Amino acid sequence: ARELEWANNPPETLAAHKARNGPICRTRFPPEPNGYLHIGHAKSMNMNFSLAFQKLNVPPEHRRTIFRYDDTNPDAETAEYIDSLKRDLEWLGWKPERTTYSSDNFGKLYEFAVELVKKELAYVCDMTKAEMEAQRELAMKRANARARGLDPDVEAPITDPNILPGRNRNTSVERNLELLEKMKMGLFAEGQYTLRLKMDFESSNPNMYDLVAYRIKYTPHPHAGDGWCIYPSYDFTHGICDSLEDIDYSICTLEFETRREPYYWILHALDLFRPAVYEMSRLNLQYTVLSKRRLIKLVDTGVVRGWDDPRMPTVSGLRRRGYTPVILNTFCDDIGATRSANVVEIKKLEQTARLALAATSRRAMAALDPIKVVITNYSEQSENMVYEVQNSPTDPEAGVHTVTLTDVIYLDSTDFRMEDSKDYFGLAPNKAVGLKYYGGNLVCEEVIEKNGKIVELKGHLDNGPDRVKPKTYLSWVPSNSLPCEIRVYNHLFTVPEPSDLWEDEINPDSEQVFVNALIDPSVAEVIDVKDIDKWKSNTALQLERFGFFVVDLDTTFDSKTRKGSIVLNRTVSLKEDKGK
Ligand code: ATP
Ligand code: MG
Ligand code: MG
Repeated sequence: ARELEWANNPPETLAAHKARNGPICRTRFPPEPNGYLHIGHAKSMNMNFSLAFQKLNVPPEHRRTIFRYDDTNPDAETAEYIDSLKRDLEWLGWKPERTTYSSDNFGKLYEFAVELVKKELAYVCDMTKAEMEAQRELAMKRANARARGLDPDVEAPITDPNILPGRNRNTSVERNLELLEKMKMGLFAEGQYTLRLKMDFESSNPNMYDLVAYRIKYTPHPHAGDGWCIYPSYDFTHGICDSLEDIDYSICTLEFETRREPYYWILHALDLFRPAVYEMSRLNLQYTVLSKRRLIKLVDTGVVRGWDDPRMPTVSGLRRRGYTPVILNTFCDDIGATRSANVVEIKKLEQTARLALAATSRRAMAALDPIKVVITNYSEQSENMVYEVQNSPTDPEAGVHTVTLTDVIYLDSTDFRMEDSKDYFGLAPNKAVGLKYYGGNLVCEEVIEKNGKIVELKGHLDNGPDRVKPKTYLSWVPSNSLPCEIRVYNHLFTVPEPSDLWEDEINPDSEQVFVNALIDPSVAEVIDVKDIDKWKSNTALQLERFGFFVVDLDTTFDSKTRKGSIVLNRTVSLKEDKGK
């Protein structure tokens, strides 16, 4: 309570803020361009662009969200990341009021730093990293003693005032101004000095232990160029940018709760408008990781093929996997905003995808690993073997396509076994099974093997009144099917909640590639197989039995294994835990 006294006073500039904002309510989405956006960011965007306003009853015409690049650490930030953030945000359908860069405020931030030095609320510090750590540790021990009603001078006495409170706290304003100016001019080495805020070592919150506001870094900045060799810290920058942009609600994730205090301390010290801060829980999703540090490692070590690998929980990976903005935003709406930490079940996301895709994707038949079947009595068939298939199993309005039973067809190899058994519904030697759309049976007469491998089956059609009633009707594809490569994805991790040993928990079988797959030729009506550029349509298909698929959007991905001209990625199976 002692620490928060000043935070509870309404800021002097609240009235001015209200005058500037009028009825407008403003939030911001401030990613750091040090990686690609992931599904956790999708939750944050959904919150900042939509949910927060709904909760606050802000009418649509008064809602504003700023898209801010929180770019204060040039070591980790790149132009590639900057571009990807914008692309993914736009793809998800969000329309920012404007796009800003924290680094555009570097000049102003420096002026504020000077102001704090003049107010004796900031000082230049020459303590080493190790000294600062010792300082922090001792201050924490003393705070713990105080919290337990013990005497900190007994429990954790101060033995070296150079460390706590530190030897630089009482440097004169003139000397501090001179040192800060020299830091900015590039007269010191990296790590030699920092600018620190003169906060409170008696606080119970370690984020109040004289935070570093500026550090020296001789790294050019991807947006601001090479004009600076000192860079403001996240804590120093963030609140000031919120305030300068007239943000009403600054929404962040729960781990920032303890940063509220320095956030308000800084704005109070500078007499700036203080936005309301709200924390929500981070999204954690089963079978994946959502920390950029870990995602970068997956990319750098080649576990995945890139940030947009369909197994990645990134927005670009999910897009390539066949997830649409509707699916992702519906999912975010459903999980809402909570303050309790939890891990969301992956089936929740998958079920959202199925519901959306069932309504919008076109049906077709395929064989992932085809096995050839020669029909021996084809010429004896009197009926015309062209069948009508509804494009959507649930929506007759979506029209129909046809599929033709030819003298050679292909089944998926999982639908044939040399040995039959009771619980097995597929084909086996001398067994009869139904064929989808044809309605009659296929009876296996002969298995042709070459070097111990089954290369072909022979069978006849039977549509007679006395035929065996089949247990199931298999999907198949005709002889003029289109070759394609089909990639089936599984979880990136073998356990629902990857631990600290997460690298050992990576699933070695997260991708299965079927390079000789076949798909019925009707899909040429929706996928132009001759013009690769038209694939950008993100066409979705539901392949009977195998799941929902999307045409792979990455036309640059020219895998050595790629044989077919069409590449399909599986978005999700048709039913939970079933299918291939
Ligand atoms: P990381 O630890 O992965 O680097 P971050 O929070 O530093 O994550 P930022 O790019 O700074 O990543 O995040 C931008 C915004 O998105 C922040 O407001 C942050 O709180 C929010 N955010 C990031 N990850 C998640 C998540 N998993 N769930 C919800 N919000 C998130
Ligand atoms: Mg981060
Ligand atoms: Mg961040």
